[in-house]
Amino acid sequence: MKINASEISTLIKQEIKSYEHRYASDDVGTVMSVGDGIAIIYGLDKAMLNELLLFPGDVYGMVLNLEEGQVGAVLLGSDRHLKEGDVVKRTGQVVEVPVGEELLGRVVNALGQPIDGLGPIEAKKHRPIERIAPGVMEREPVNKPLQTGILAIDSMIPIGRGQRELIIGDRQTGKTAIAIDTIINQKDQNVRCVYVAIGQKNSTVANIVEKLRTVGALSYTTVVSATASELAPLQWIAPYAGCAIAEEWMEEGKDVLVVYDDLSKHAIAYRTLSLLLKRSPGREAYPGDIFYLHSRLLERACKLNKAFGGGSITALPIIETQAGDISAYIPTNVISITDGQIFLMTDLFNAGQRPAIDSGLSVSRVGAAAQIDAIKQVSRSLKIELASYRELQAFTQFGSDLDASTKKVLTHGACLMEVLRQNQYVPYSVESEVLALFLAKNRFLDPLPKASIQPRLFEFLNVVSVKHPEIIAELKAEKKISSSLNEKLTEIAKDFFSVDEKTK
Ligand code: ATP
Ligand code: MG
Repeated sequence: MKINASEISTLIKQEIKSYEHRYASDDVGTVMSVGDGIAIIYGLDKAMLNELLLFPGDVYGMVLNLEEGQVGAVLLGSDRHLKEGDVVKRTGQVVEVPVGEELLGRVVNALGQPIDGLGPIEAKKHRPIERIAPGVMEREPVNKPLQTGILAIDSMIPIGRGQRELIIGDRQTGKTAIAIDTIINQKDQNVRCVYVAIGQKNSTVANIVEKLRTVGALSYTTVVSATASELAPLQWIAPYAGCAIAEEWMEEGKDVLVVYDDLSKHAIAYRTLSLLLKRSPGREAYPGDIFYLHSRLLERACKLNKAFGGGSITALPIIETQAGDISAYIPTNVISITDGQIFLMTDLFNAGQRPAIDSGLSVSRVGAAAQIDAIKQVSRSLKIELASYRELQAFTQFGSDLDASTKKVLTHGACLMEVLRQNQYVPYSVESEVLALFLAKNRFLDPLPKASIQPRLFEFLNVVSVKHPEIIAELKAEKKISSSLNEKLTEIAKDFFSVDEKTK
């Protein structure tokens, strides 16, 4: 068979044409280098920021750097089998996660894929993980409390639905414990919860999930987990994924609580990515946009007004400090983004004062607007009393001769500290909180020896709920202490604590 020259040249021309079409198109690029979860790709002229790319072997990547002639992307899966020259395709989509009811009670990774072995999630809806936060006109001030069930927080550092309250402290000071207790306390409160674990140990997350399951809190909770063993890009997108899941519920008019545990590890994951992408390092080697990274996440927590459904996202970000240094870069950033912080102290924790909340450094800038009247009535002077106790305590360490009024402040302060001690997993109901603070405020517990303060307090709560259920009912309905209720409670307390007077 003879092939003539013109036929050959047409074939070659055709091949060249399709070759160009395949490799120089805007939708396809080639890998120039890959490693450490980062790929540099030639081509892809039309790629968008944060667009998903498809690599061979069904590995996805996400565009982060748009440069002249090349694109830098982070890989959301293993890079082991990828090599130079591999073909990369644009997908035209951004990273999305499944959202909706199907996610309740599930444990998912940063891409929303189930990792709890309970089968696939048949979600009807997906949402992009990044979204612009609701604007000023869509919001309203917080007006409903989010009860944590932790006496020290609900009384002194109240949190409202839609607020962003930072939990900050050194390692092993009970940061996670506060967040988990708050989730547990949302049972029957009509609040959905999302717990995002970033850069933690697998075993820690497994324990938390198990705890939530045993106390029946998993049924209204979604856990998003990107543990320390996972790639930095996954740790980086995990909080955005969790926030997207929460946002769907907020837009349906529901109240949601999101915990980001913790954002220091999130910042470190992002720093790793940025350095690998050769972005210039700034303070503490973090890239310049690290503030924006956290502010665009936390701004998405808000209280929507009635016209937009009235839903809310309450955010509890967690930050780990080094040796109590809250003036480091990431802590100061997040402190300035949030509406207040709960500061946990190692010294208090080690002294057995748990939760180890430092009432002097902890504040809530907006939550008091949402606090119920009854708690306001009994906790107004608490912070000041504790402050003067701390001051005198430091002052009187050297002297032994104390006048009566100093002694009084010291005993009252020590008693308050004892009342505010609380174990894990035993949240107070609002009514119990009111009663406990009522006793503390009216100094019924001051004369008791330290060891019997908590036991007697619990006995009192028991007595009131069994013998005087009408008081609990009134508190529940009215949410304030009327003068008649005040009298009645004083009578009951006097009667109850008269025994202690006699045995003294
Ligand atoms: P990490 O820095 O490792 O994340 P963390 O600050 O989150 O630690 P947790 O893991 O919450 O701290 O708590 C540390 C330890 O203290 C745990 O063993 C926990 O059970 C215990 N703990 C925390 N809060 C209390 C509490 N209120 N009463 C008794 N024990 C507590
Ligand atoms: Mg923790």
